[in-house]
Order: sequence, then C-alpha cells, then structure tokens
Amino acid sequence: MSNIEQTLSIIKPDAVERDLQDQIKQEFADKGFEIIKEKKIHISKEEAEKFYKVHESKPFYNDLCAYLSSGPIVVMKLQRENAVIENRKLMGATNPADAEEGTLRKKYGISIDKNSVHGSDSLENAKIELEFFFNN
Ligand code: ADP
Ligand code: MG
Repeated sequence: MSNIEQTLSIIKPDAVERDLQDQIKQEFADKGFEIIKEKKIHISKEEAEKFYKVHESKPFYNDLCAYLSSGPIVVMKLQRENAVIENRKLMGATNPADAEEGTLRKKYGISIDKNSVHGSDSLENAKIELEFFFNN
C-alpha cells in the first residue's frame, strides 16, 4: 500500500551560503522526492522564534533563532512515499559528527548548529510547518 506524504525541508543558511542548494536538491531527487513547492527567503528573528517555538525552553533557542534568520534559506515542500521518515533518514543525526555516511548532515554539515538541513520530525509537525511557510 502506498503512503504518499508531504514534509517540510529547509536548506539552512550555512548550506545556502556555500551554494549547496542545487546539490542538495539533487540528493532529494535521487532519493525519489518530488519538490512540490520551494522558495528562497530570508526570515526575521521573530519569524524564526515562531517556527522554533517548540524549542523555546532550550538553552540554544536564542542562538538557533539568530542563526536561522542570519541569511537566506531555501524552504521546500517535499513529497514521496513515507516522506517524513525518509527525509529524516536522508538528513542523518542532528549532530553531523554522529551522522551516518551518505547522509546530508554527514556530507554537508559543519557543526550541530550549522547542520545544513531541517526536516519535520512527524506528519503532524510537517503539516504545521508547511502551513507556516506555504499556507498549506
Ligand atoms: P533536528 O533538527 O535534528 O530535528 P532538534 O529539533 O533537536 O534537531 O533541534 C533543532 C535544531 O537546533 C538542530 O537542527 C540544531 O541545529 C539545533 N540544536 C539542537 N541541539 C543543539 C545543541 N545541543 N546545541 C546547539 N544547537 C542545537
Ligand atoms: Mg527537530
């Protein structure tokens, strides 16, 4: 049975800054993801705070929001079978130092904060995050 899902991916400022967006988009295409929508934007610190509200109580919250709003990002609506979990697998562990070979964070991530990509962690959050950036 097929289980087509949509999820949100963000190419973070460190990767856009190094001009890796086309390479990363190709990695998604190679893994069967269709990019349904995409836009390159530069969000404000206030928008980043809203997006990462779930991390409000974490010690790294302020730095995280400052970072996501520090430069242009590419936000994408991705679609494929089991998109949420497949995207998380392709991304790899949060800390690039712990990420498996072949994952995006292993290949492109610089550090735990500059880890190149964001991906929704559940179908429920994917819906909320897609609504946030694309209004659906
Ligand atoms: P993920 O992006 O893998 O879903 P989290 O949702 O836990 O990870 O955290 C959101 C983002 O916050 C991470 O991608 C990372 O950039 C940053 N982050 C997470 N943990 C830390 C930490 N201990 N120190 C600094 N930044 C962190
Ligand atoms: Mg997360």
